[in-house]
Amino acid sequence: MQTHILGYPRIGSKRELKKACEQYWSGKIVLEELLTVGRAICSQNWNLQKEAGIDLIPCNDFSYYDQVLDMSLVVGAIPTRYHEVALKKNNSELDLYFAMARGYQKDELDITAMEMTKWFDTNYHYIVPEFYKNQQFKLTSDKIFNEFAGAKQAGINAKPVIIGLVSYLLLGKEKEEGFDKLDLAHNLLPVYVEIISKLQSQGAQWIQFDEPFLALDINEKAKEVYTFVYAELKRQFPKLTFIVTTYFEGLKNNLALATSLPVNVLHLDLVRNPEQLEDVLHSIPEHLSLSLGIVDGRNIWKNDYKKSLSFIKKATETLGSERILIAPSCSLLHSPCDLDFETSLNAEIKNWLAFAKQKVKEVVTLKELASETSDENILQDFEENKKAVSDRKTSSLIHNENVKLRANAVTGKDSQRKNSFHIRKEEQQKALQLPLFPTTTIGSFPQTAEVRTWRAKFKKGELTAEQYDALLKEETQRTIRWQESIGIDVLVHGEYERNDMVEYFGEQLNGFTFTKNGWVQSYGSRCVKPPIIFGDVSRPEPMTVYWSQYAQSQTNQWVKGMLTGPVTILQWSFVRDDQPRSETCKQIALAIRDEVQDLEKAGIRIIQIDEPAIREGLPLRKTDWQNYLKWAVEAFKISASGVEDATQIHTHMCYSEFNDIIKNIADMDADVITIECSRSQMELLHAFADFKYPNEIGPGVYDIHSPRVPSKEEMIELLKKAQDVIPASQLWVNPDCGLKTRHWEETEKALIAMVAAAKEASVEY
Ligand code: GLN
Ligand code: ZN
Repeated sequence: MQTHILGYPRIGSKRELKKACEQYWSGKIVLEELLTVGRAICSQNWNLQKEAGIDLIPCNDFSYYDQVLDMSLVVGAIPTRYHEVALKKNNSELDLYFAMARGYQKDELDITAMEMTKWFDTNYHYIVPEFYKNQQFKLTSDKIFNEFAGAKQAGINAKPVIIGLVSYLLLGKEKEEGFDKLDLAHNLLPVYVEIISKLQSQGAQWIQFDEPFLALDINEKAKEVYTFVYAELKRQFPKLTFIVTTYFEGLKNNLALATSLPVNVLHLDLVRNPEQLEDVLHSIPEHLSLSLGIVDGRNIWKNDYKKSLSFIKKATETLGSERILIAPSCSLLHSPCDLDFETSLNAEIKNWLAFAKQKVKEVVTLKELASETSDENILQDFEENKKAVSDRKTSSLIHNENVKLRANAVTGKDSQRKNSFHIRKEEQQKALQLPLFPTTTIGSFPQTAEVRTWRAKFKKGELTAEQYDALLKEETQRTIRWQESIGIDVLVHGEYERNDMVEYFGEQLNGFTFTKNGWVQSYGSRCVKPPIIFGDVSRPEPMTVYWSQYAQSQTNQWVKGMLTGPVTILQWSFVRDDQPRSETCKQIALAIRDEVQDLEKAGIRIIQIDEPAIREGLPLRKTDWQNYLKWAVEAFKISASGVEDATQIHTHMCYSEFNDIIKNIADMDADVITIECSRSQMELLHAFADFKYPNEIGPGVYDIHSPRVPSKEEMIELLKKAQDVIPASQLWVNPDCGLKTRHWEETEKALIAMVAAAKEASVEY
């Protein structure tokens, strides 16, 4: 039995890589200094795994920005527009690489970045490879070989981790018509052969190919390419041990394909899909070993050794221990680095957690326990683990009988508004008296450096609560006055009191806790620190009423109350694994429902419940979509349905495709939905038009992700496009998303032009 790790976090346990990259980009350090930081992180990671006793330690899991972009550079999939960057003198390979990741605006060049998208159902984002018809590939970078050599110097014969050929192609995008990216397998294969043969000559014995698509819905052609590629690779490298990894889903209908590949080890994600073990054991061919992904790489909970051992036992009974490897479910990239840094977490909760470093140790301990060790320390670990697991099951920190009773008592009525939309619309029109094409914004206004300093000072105790409150009030009031002055119809308070749209609510809800250093890479140098939902969720007191009420008291116009929806709070947190996600989501929904009702009582007549993450919660396999959408939509409706007909509920969603989920979006039955739309030139609106979406819609008329100020004419143009497909009486006018990342200067100009565009459009009626 052997242990291995699919990949280790590379940001550094104190985010050293983030800091070094950002310093390099701003010219504060030189290339050699950045490389030194990178090498140090690699050797720390290797040593940590070596000392823990891991048998197969990965290399090439490190990356300065993204592992998919690394692969694009290695195989020479470098779009032509970047070729000039490489030609500029003083530019290194890494400068070309960063240009692809972030765009390049100097030396008289102005090149946009490559597209970025979410890595399966994680919050990690990768750089999408660009493919062209008949594209040729060429080994272009020594990154993999350098890392392998680095590990060797550290005394480790590492296991290089490479994105499998088929998954690499499937991750990319065809940038012209008339071909299928899978056709490129023939051109790409020789480069893979070259990479592997170089690694072999360097002394590599194991190669890990990440093939997550083997656990997803794939077509027949992809299956054929899988068979062809691995037959060819194995034919050329009979002596190497190939590990093919799958994760985030189960093999399911691809089981026969996966077990037929001529590789040595197949890795299964037994956290996401434990049932597949039984099926695989039934049909596994003799040449194949299994890697059991039993330590959760996607969440922060301690492993339940007893449960894991039962899996290991089942597998060894069939295969014998020499055909078994033990591993985390997926790369530890998605876990925070080290729990030891969390010095102020509640000790009871901390005892339930494991971050990447702790998970490495869990893998090793599981192997020793499975080998029926008599080592006292290990047996002691087992006892402690059993105790932690059972403590968590019964802890009063987690379980709140009232919350459970309330959630169980929810009926269909709780997710239904009193009357249907057309009745509500009339009531709302009477109460709110809004003009045609009402203007509004999505919630946040610029969070200037100044606003952020106040919060930092307040947290450090350098500002008293009264001082902080007074500053925020002043800023809120100024924002209200300014919106009035330019003629916006529905105002917002600006969200100055909020650090982040999930954290702000999590901090006020029971059942959540926060880490100091639990960073996880989101993309490039950007990291996020998700809250941890450890217990039953409840709301001890109102969370936003104070600020909404204050803002409303400053004006005679309507101020929109601003909340984050239950699905988004769930989606952007580490979630408990001892009950279904749907149950946790329902509890959050009930807490938000109370908040909505309290806002209504406080005189707030328009309330927005943001759900930007509803689409990203979609399961990876299409057959699971409807089940998810059912409870997700239900949770939103529970949060939104406790109010009178005259109270107007808005929701907001960021850049997403709506075509295949439009019915579910309509089921949410928000009175108004604002969506990000401008970059698609209103194309995203067509899904609503084709569906004859009955409620009101605010398609974003300008892109807030760029400092560029759009002209009135452009926005009128977009509004016209919107009216081509949606009746004017249903339309709102607003930006794409919140303005917190923008500066005031461009915000002022853009919103003045937006209001003018709306006025001009309504004159035509
Ligand atoms: N109300 C939030 C804001 O304006 C919405 C953010 C989002 O959609 N991501 O910032
Ligand atoms: Zn948004």
